[in-house]
Amino acid sequence: MTTSTNGGAKRLRFATAWLGGCSGCHMSFLDLDELLFDLAQHADVVFGPLTDAKEFPPDVDITLIEGAVTNEDNVELARSVRANTRVVVSFGDCAVTGNVTSLRNAMGDPDPMLRRVYVDSPEINGAMPTEVVPALLPQAEPLHELIPVDVYLPGCPPSATRIRDLLFRLIESLEAGEGIPSMEWRGADDLRFG
Ligand code: SF4
Repeated sequence: MTTSTNGGAKRLRFATAWLGGCSGCHMSFLDLDELLFDLAQHADVVFGPLTDAKEFPPDVDITLIEGAVTNEDNVELARSVRANTRVVVSFGDCAVTGNVTSLRNAMGDPDPMLRRVYVDSPEINGAMPTEVVPALLPQAEPLHELIPVDVYLPGCPPSATRIRDLLFRLIESLEAGEGIPSMEWRGADDLRFG
């Protein structure tokens, strides 16, 4: 699924997506520092908080997805990523397990909480948000409950070292035409935390 070229060499298409997370996983990605230049030698960054793209593009090779699935916008974006990405990485503990984002699940139906915040508490214009703010799902769920995941990268956030090891192993394998490599943290049965 390498669709663009640079000087004759085929380049990968790389993306990130931000669902229900604090952006800490993306901050850890930025901690790759000068290795981001190495990544740029192999891949075009075609979507994510660091780009201006509004729609998830087709033919993406690798997408890191941060965050749990917690609202309707998350569902739409996650499905679009899955439909257009060869290797989907569940990126960080919120995506892998629900983690911090799923703490609200213990409170049950989020509607009473939203009413308390938006209707009962404000002194003016008390009303439930019906526009712009996406509706919350009844529960925040890990990513694999909604879409198939190819690789799990746990951590809160995953360290830059771990992100580097995973990304460049994937890039090396895809460039060699070998598909998704076997990695110790690939499967849900091999999760590592911290
Ligand atoms: Fe933030 Fe941790 Fe969740 Fe990443 S895993 S989005 S750092 S809370």
